[in-house]
Amino acid sequence: MLDYVDLEADLSEEERLVRDTAREFVDEEVRPTIGDHFEAGTFPEDLIAEMGDLGFYAPNIDHEATANLGERAYGLVMQELEAGDSGVRSMASVQGALVMYPIHAFGSAAQRERWLPDLAAGSAVGCFGLTEPDHGSNPSAMETRAERSDDGEGYVLNGSKTWITNAPIADVALVWAKDRSAEGDPVRGFLVKTDREGITTNHIDGKLSMRASVTGEIGLNDCYVPESAVLPDVSGMKGPLACLTQARYGIAWGAVGAARDCFEAAREYATDREQFGGPIARFQLQQEKLAEMATQITTAQLLAYRLADLKERGDLRPQQVSMAKRNNVAMWRDAARTARETLGGNGITTDHSPMRHLANVETVYTYEGTHDIHTLILGEDLTGIAAFE
Ligand SMILES: Cc1cc2nc3c(=O)[nH]c(=O)nc-3n(C[C@H](O)[C@H](O)[C@H](O)COP(=O)(O)OP(=O)(O)OC[C@H]3O[C@@H](n4cnc5c(N)ncnc54)[C@H](O)[C@@H]3O)c2cc1C
Repeated sequence: MLDYVDLEADLSEEERLVRDTAREFVDEEVRPTIGDHFEAGTFPEDLIAEMGDLGFYAPNIDHEATANLGERAYGLVMQELEAGDSGVRSMASVQGALVMYPIHAFGSAAQRERWLPDLAAGSAVGCFGLTEPDHGSNPSAMETRAERSDDGEGYVLNGSKTWITNAPIADVALVWAKDRSAEGDPVRGFLVKTDREGITTNHIDGKLSMRASVTGEIGLNDCYVPESAVLPDVSGMKGPLACLTQARYGIAWGAVGAARDCFEAAREYATDREQFGGPIARFQLQQEKLAEMATQITTAQLLAYRLADLKERGDLRPQQVSMAKRNNVAMWRDAARTARETLGGNGITTDHSPMRHLANVETVYTYEGTHDIHTLILGEDLTGIAAFE
């Protein structure tokens, strides 16, 4: 397995164990059926509770219901899950970084007690509703709104969200909406149980990327929620943006895993496949591809490791996460395409992973801030001039 600069040597016993557990889970539970799920457009839902048992949901959150791991161990879990499939890593990221993290960071004691144990165990599924049909890269322009209910004891939500991972199978949706009853219409987070009246979650069909993942829309039509559904400790866009920083950190690691999986598939194929009287790995053109992939994967991995150290000591800035998400996902996109090339015609089937990873990366390149948006975030950080509008 590619680890060109021996990062393994610096892992603690616990980190190695966690990494190996995730790797074994992927080998035994994900690889055998993921191609079929990808073709069928289904998520292996039987794995949701097992992933909970293994502690894959928000293990970096300090809570009695979670695995309480460090940031590097958490990153290694994301790396191994995405080596299996982005749908599996997305399941863990949404549940952990986008639902459990905000409940832990911004929720009330009652909300933490109600949701964290169930979400950590995978006996409940959460989703994160930020994107809207007309507002993707600019979520601060969202139209979903919350207004005080007539009895003054809750809110009435109206609006729609789209492209929401897990919405159709979620028990609870964290919906971000503008609070029209507060001055300045601040964005607030609402924990909406999906069996409430006034909320619908429709499946989005026809995806050609991230097929082994459930994606849907959320419709809110005079959906009443009690005051206790509001995350009390955050107001404004910093709420959803803080969640995205957590998830993007996981993606920076996950991208390394998916790219590594592409590389390993290409290396194995190149050494086995014979053309012109010997293995294609003897051709300089093929070696150049492997050398380039290995180099880019290694440098992306070093960036992820550095982020873990910064995050662990509380020094990680969102812009640094943007750099890693942007770089590592683009690196994976190139690696997946190159690996697919090496596999020739066989490379376009679900019998091999590169084409599936190549299809998946189109989603990861776009969600959690598109590549362009992360470029602009870096541009602003480097020059002090925002170029978003
Ligand atoms: C499979 C999948 C799962 C998803 N899961 C979730 C989820 O769980 N929760 C959630 O809230 N969202 C989710 N998303 C939505 C995702 O975050 C959005 O698709 C993403 O933010 C981009 O928004 P958009 O698709 O509306 O594209 P747009 O914002 O319309 O962008 C279109 C193009 O314009 C470019 N662009 C936009 N603004 C600028 C600018 N200022 N300068 C230069 N170029 C610009 C973009 O980079 C992009 O290339 C998911 C998406 C997918 C595909």
